[in-house]
Amino acid sequence: AKERGRNNFQFFDHGLSARYSERLELENRLRHALDEKQLELFYQPQVDTLSGELIGMEALIRWRQPDGSMVPPDKFIPIAEESGLIVPIGAWVLQEACRQVQSWLREGICRVPVGVNLSARQFDDAGLLDTIKSALSSVNLPPAYLDLELTESLVMRNPEHTRSILAECKKIGLQLSVDDFGTGYSSLANLKRFPIDRLKIDRSFIKDIVTEADDAAIAQTIVAMAHTLRLEVIAEGVETEAQLALLRRWRCDAYQGYLCSRPLCAADMTQMLRSLRAS
Ligand code: C2E
Ligand code: CA
Ligand code: CA
Ligand code: CA
Repeated sequence: AKERGRNNFQFFDHGLSARYSERLELENRLRHALDEKQLELFYQPQVDTLSGELIGMEALIRWRQPDGSMVPPDKFIPIAEESGLIVPIGAWVLQEACRQVQSWLREGICRVPVGVNLSARQFDDAGLLDTIKSALSSVNLPPAYLDLELTESLVMRNPEHTRSILAECKKIGLQLSVDDFGTGYSSLANLKRFPIDRLKIDRSFIKDIVTEADDAAIAQTIVAMAHTLRLEVIAEGVETEAQLALLRRWRCDAYQGYLCSRPLCAADMTQMLRSLRAS
């Protein structure tokens, strides 16, 4: 039995170290991804539930490997966070999103804000506000075109720190959204103590609203309560007409999801904006 236990242990250990070196290798490659221009932003439209009009878009990072394959953000954002690489990468995201929206603005094909995801590590970085300000001013983008997406758990983690940063952000004129709402443990009343503009209901709550009465009740309640607090509400991950019909009935303001469009590369988003403009 002793022998077997030892073998099991070695087997387990081997699995762990393999995963560890895979992670290290990914981290090493990520270190060069910025310099080697392997990072790219995709954009997903956000549309009004009733009119279908474009009201915004979210910038979503993509990592294209030299062999052309993509590493999904769920796989490298956590590594970027743990290693601290998220600070320079996040600064690049802010810069690139501002540059792109300003270029659409100049072409006259887009007049909606771009949402940029912020991670906790960036939020704790003392240089965040300067990074944001220089991203805006380097391309002369009015601050109202930048919408910062912060997860519910990030906001609640250190309320005093968050409150002071968010107050600064509002003073500059940025838009503020709470991302993945419903996945944390905060109440809407708590959130209202922060100067936020909108809530994004997490996809996990939207997924089964057509078939699960409980999920429908929760989502409908979030919409109604958010409106009482004068917050705008966006539903994430809307994939079907049946989901959209419910969201319309509940007066959810906007949605984002495959039903309207998958995230698009900048060139495809440009095409879409031009054709919207032409129609
Ligand atoms: P998120 O902020 O919740 O972004 C929404 C995710 O849902 C995106 O995944 C998007 O492609 C996906 N999605 C949108 N509509 C649908 C739908 O109808 N059905 C389904 N099944 N999925 C949908 P993505 O692009 O893989 O990003 C995953 C996460 O990675 C994001 O979740 C966000 O937390 C993080 N992320 C992405 N870009 C950045 C970034 O620039 N900075 C940071 N810090 N995090 C980022
Ligand atoms: Ca987001
Ligand atoms: Ca989200
Ligand atoms: Ca999410």
